[in-house]
Amino acid sequence: MQVHAHAAREAKQTLSPFEYQTPTLGHQDVRIEISHCGICHSDIHLIDNDWAISQYPLIPGHEIVGTVIELGLGVKHLKKGDRVGVGWQCGSCLQCEFCLRGDENLCDHSQATCVGHFGGFAEGVVVDSRFAFPIPSDLPSETTAPLLCGGITVYSPMVHYGVRPAMKVGVMGVGGLGHMALQFASAMGCEVTAFTTSSDKEVEAVKLGAHRVVMMKDADAVARAANSQDFLISTVSGAMDWMQAMSFLRPDGKLCVVGASPTQIQVPAFALISGRRSIVGSPIGSRHRIMEMLAFAARHEIGAIVEVMPLAKVNEAIAKVRANQARYRMVLKV
Ligand code: NAP
Ligand code: ZN
Repeated sequence: MQVHAHAAREAKQTLSPFEYQTPTLGHQDVRIEISHCGICHSDIHLIDNDWAISQYPLIPGHEIVGTVIELGLGVKHLKKGDRVGVGWQCGSCLQCEFCLRGDENLCDHSQATCVGHFGGFAEGVVVDSRFAFPIPSDLPSETTAPLLCGGITVYSPMVHYGVRPAMKVGVMGVGGLGHMALQFASAMGCEVTAFTTSSDKEVEAVKLGAHRVVMMKDADAVARAANSQDFLISTVSGAMDWMQAMSFLRPDGKLCVVGASPTQIQVPAFALISGRRSIVGSPIGSRHRIMEMLAFAARHEIGAIVEVMPLAKVNEAIAKVRANQARYRMVLKV
């Protein structure tokens, strides 16, 4: 089947229309007719080949929602017409220690939806059905698509690292991931602080669940935020002052890195020794965690605040993400 998509032909280039022929379906594959696809900052990193893993022509897009229109012979848990979501990961070995214990996102043979595969800035995609997740019926497609990567990336470490209602949780960067992190931490009952460089985001951050907003350009506010957070998740995609981020941690506090800042993390040993502070990281989330996150989002009415644009305007949408002008997730409607 012929698929119409938008692809980057070279690093850092704008996307242009691209067509390709999908292979016949494997035993466990499903063909999905895409309705919506979010633009994650990882798509921008891939277009720019920031991580030296991109393959061109590159069809980005890994916050996919669509409808199952064809199934491989081995697919039993989905049927034609089901609404499903696909995130960053589209495959893993399903046999290693980590896959068997339900941590597929830690598998050494993890496959990414738009690395070596054609992604979701397209009218359709073929993926392994075991990485396509039914979407709860009360979740709207456009506000749910961003949960498939951005949402799970912030929800998963909160659960994994034991965030509890009494904790003080900070979110650095109120972008796509950050604005969903505020909602999850708030729904978990935490005391939530947003750390932002954008003054116009203050009001919205409070609406999304922040009890306090620290403007990073205000030296006094930054100083007052010292020693205040139990769990601080950094979603920042740009330059970071890691020692400043560490300064916000209380004793036993954790700085959890999910944003792919290009700044090397260098801290003196005593930044970790004193107060038993730690720096951890986290990649996306496992399959069962994605299912749990979708159910949690449905129960607490969590979703992205989106600006929807037609797929044909993909370059305009990407430009807004690059300029940090997305409020708060650009979503392409196919
Ligand atoms: P985004 O929507 O562009 O948001 C990033 C936010 O970072 C911005 O809104 C901005 O928030 C803040 N920021 C501070 N300094 C910045 C700078 N110099 N340049 C750009 N932004 C700056 O991006 P996203 O989609 O949320 O993704 C955030 C990062 O997470 C990306 O690096 C992405 O690759 C990564 N990511 C990681 C995983 C994972 O598995 N760990 C999964 C998905 C994405 P303020 O305006 O509030 O300051
Ligand atoms: Zn992503």
